[in-house]
Amino acid sequence: MRPAAALSALVLLAGACAVPAATPTTRTSRLDGDRMLAAVGVLAHDSMEGRAAGTAGGARARRWLLAQFDSIGLAAPDDGFAQEFAPGSDHGGPPGVNLAGILRGAVRPERVLVVGAHYDHLGVRRGETYNGADDNASGVAVLLELARWFRAHPPASTLVLVLFDAEEQGSLGSAAFLADPPAAPGRMAAMVNLDMVGRNAGNELWIAGTAHWPRLVPVAEAVAAGSAVLVRLGHDRAGAVLEDDWTFASDHGPFHRAGVPFLYFGEEDHADYHRPTDDVERIQPAFLTAAAETVLDALLVLDTLTTPLR
Ligand SMILES: [Zn+2]
Repeated sequence: MRPAAALSALVLLAGACAVPAATPTTRTSRLDGDRMLAAVGVLAHDSMEGRAAGTAGGARARRWLLAQFDSIGLAAPDDGFAQEFAPGSDHGGPPGVNLAGILRGAVRPERVLVVGAHYDHLGVRRGETYNGADDNASGVAVLLELARWFRAHPPASTLVLVLFDAEEQGSLGSAAFLADPPAAPGRMAAMVNLDMVGRNAGNELWIAGTAHWPRLVPVAEAVAAGSAVLVRLGHDRAGAVLEDDWTFASDHGPFHRAGVPFLYFGEEDHADYHRPTDDVERIQPAFLTAAAETVLDALLVLDTLTTPLR
């Protein structure tokens, strides 16, 4: 290291750049990457025991998430933040619990945008804890940060922010949410689902849904153009040769089935997918932040659209 040389170079640089430094060239980040990474660290900590639906670890995660809802200042649906549901006789086991918070629209409160992310994961199996940092503490951390941002910058439409339980058992939480929703599906202009948005070796983030809902193509293309990650559209066509169809792979599936246009944000599976090694240390902070900014861009466009998306 040559600290003295580095210092003098900095001084020279500072002198040379004194005037042009005032020119704004880059957009500053609107969301707090450190806070998102910290949230992933909390949810993916061993003490949360992998957050499986119906377990003590899931309940511990829920207590922390409810405290976040409270500190952000989200309003509760009529029946409260928590929605308990029975997994159903064919699944057995203890009940699951979704958490939903509301930010009422300032201009068109009757128009609803749903933002969802599942907080459950696989729990402890054969003595190993599946922490699920990317799947899906990452999506939950982004949802909380978006909630904070929209609390400070009120949306035109109403935002319903939902943390689903029991996704890993086949999107049971989102199906239960739609069986007893705080707003009728007909009032939901669109649903945005976040599931695995914390890392990708190729810096790629997929948006699925536009093949089913072509009126969302301009929204996805607009945010792709301004994104710091490589946004790709797809994974939403049955029978495609090179891509799996993710249409029913996560909590956007039940919304699609109910006729609600959706955009799903997520990355390709990685070596730690559904393994005990899906830990916070393997999250890529810059990717997580860029993905979150991209979702924020999409929500800002969706919030102000006046044309129907169906
Ligand atoms: Zn997931």
